[in-house]
Amino acid sequence: MTTKDLANLIFPNITKTIEDYEKEYPERDLKEGAKVVRFAPSPTGFMHIGNMMSATINYCLAKKSGGVFFVRNEDTDQARTVEGAVDFIHNTLKHYGIYPDEYEYKGEVVGNYGPYIQSERKEIYHAYVKHLIEIGKAYPCFMSKEEVDEIRENQAQAKKRIGIYGRYARCRNMSIDEAYEKIKNGDKFVIRFKSSGDFDEKFVFEELNKGKMEFPMNDLDFPIMKSEDLLPTYHFAHLVDDHLMRTTHVVRGEEWISSVPIHYELFKTFGFEMPKYIHNSLILKKDGDTIRKISKRKDPEALMFYYTEKGYPASAVIESVMTIANSNYEEWRTQNPEAPFYEFDFNPKKMSSSGALFDLDKLDNISKNIISKMKAKDLYEEIAKWASEYDKEFESLIRENKDLVIGFLNIEREQSKPRKDFAHYSEVKDKIWYMFNELFDKSDKPYEFKTIDKKSDVYELASVYLNDFYREEDDKDTWFSKIKSLSERLGYAKEVKEYKENPDNYKGHVGDVSTALRIAITKESMTPDLYMIMKLLGKQEMLKRIEKLQKS
Ligand code: GLU
Repeated sequence: MTTKDLANLIFPNITKTIEDYEKEYPERDLKEGAKVVRFAPSPTGFMHIGNMMSATINYCLAKKSGGVFFVRNEDTDQARTVEGAVDFIHNTLKHYGIYPDEYEYKGEVVGNYGPYIQSERKEIYHAYVKHLIEIGKAYPCFMSKEEVDEIRENQAQAKKRIGIYGRYARCRNMSIDEAYEKIKNGDKFVIRFKSSGDFDEKFVFEELNKGKMEFPMNDLDFPIMKSEDLLPTYHFAHLVDDHLMRTTHVVRGEEWISSVPIHYELFKTFGFEMPKYIHNSLILKKDGDTIRKISKRKDPEALMFYYTEKGYPASAVIESVMTIANSNYEEWRTQNPEAPFYEFDFNPKKMSSSGALFDLDKLDNISKNIISKMKAKDLYEEIAKWASEYDKEFESLIRENKDLVIGFLNIEREQSKPRKDFAHYSEVKDKIWYMFNELFDKSDKPYEFKTIDKKSDVYELASVYLNDFYREEDDKDTWFSKIKSLSERLGYAKEVKEYKENPDNYKGHVGDVSTALRIAITKESMTPDLYMIMKLLGKQEMLKRIEKLQKS
């Protein structure tokens, strides 16, 4: 019996060789320096902010270099696959405008390097496993899970290094004949890699973020193919896929860095060039006085649902992710305010190796800025789109009052320092509600008078104002001078300064009067420009509202 016989026994139907695959997936014909990158999530959970950071960095690397960004669905852990996870990944990438050049989704394959779903690549992996068995670099291992667990426990107790290596790799030296017989008898097995590494030897590895790193050589006989579904393990799929898909740069989570020795040995064994690696920073958050890793269980903002539900503009989320991904991004953004984010020259060296602090207040600021620069009409559409998904009632309300809403959103907008009152679309309703007559009519929110606290005084002031002073056609200056005249007529100082000089001579000042008017008309003490609000509401509606005040 030879290794070849063993390989044929295990994979009788695999006829293609690794050379065939080399030809089928040739080097990509791209310009010098073009990066081929991938986003390779496992559908075992919903896309989170760490995934988002990987995807965004990948997109940026590919676009900036004229390369390719593809998505690979790493679904080899079928038992843990979560329904809807794949759809969510695609919808999220689409929503954020970082859609891949190559992918496979709902039966559609785009790109020549697929299949892009690992469970559809079984035959390819088998050709590579078969090859390793033939050359004596992989073998069937018949140890049961219990046996492996026991070895690990004993190692832990004896404070030995954990894993299947050296004498713990019990099937490593089994004769081919014995292995052959066992398989023929139907014994269960996994395929393990037969390492030739020496743990006491070191090698130097250049990681693009951390620089030169020293690792011990791998000596683990790690599994490369599982017994239950004959699918590869992550390590092996990474080797085969990133080689055949001609990946140049792997951007992946920090947790994979300890697997570098395994990957190093695998690539060396096949004689394939390794891609370059960037291990992402962990995403951290401030929790009281401490800083800790963001948690999918504890922190709603860890999952990407959070941002769509709240209604953050896609670009705000991208900006805040880029800001924590590279320390010089903000500076670049200041110098290039209009450029698309992917024109940024992402530098892995400028990624914090101690972790990236993600801060929701910062996101809010970024977002407020972005929203404040949108045209009122565009903002209206974005809010309506958000509401169609998350608040249908609000959607109908704003659809029915389109001009009013756009008019409101336009207040203090097209100017050098626009208002920055919304960080996300879900806060709009609370800040605009009083503009809708039907909501105002139904509202039982109490009037919280500030400066002038007697309801009858406020009513009197508002009714004198509306009946004797207010004209819809007045320009802003006239409008303001009328508020001053009203103040004077009712015993309030028309200038704050005058009041401060002689407070005893007045009931209050013009600021108190306008605040009282604002509350009478909107029930809010803080609103955008009152002049514009009055114009949008119209005199009739305001008269109705002060009657409501009187009856309250
Ligand atoms: N499927 C792996 C994960 O989700 C991908 C790691 C990689 O990008 O290589 O962690």
